[in-house]
Amino acid sequence: MNLQGGDVTGVSEFCSKCGMVLSNDEIALHKKLYNRAAKSFLCIRCSSEYLEVTQELLTAKIEEFKKMGCTLFSPK
Ligand SMILES: [Zn+2]
Repeated sequence: MNLQGGDVTGVSEFCSKCGMVLSNDEIALHKKLYNRAAKSFLCIRCSSEYLEVTQELLTAKIEEFKKMGCTLFSPK
């Protein structure tokens, strides 16, 4: 399966607030920030509003977690 937008698996998750399709990174970030066992997720935009931080900060966090080798962000 090769959808546009990069790392999209067969199962799509949607933001519980705005309904946007979530990337794996967004799901992983949500798990990392809130709850590893989360069943519903926020997209990066809603998450930044909720946390009162910029989207850029959250994007930087994703990169940081990836560099740290966080397993939630490992590809597939
Ligand atoms: Zn959203």
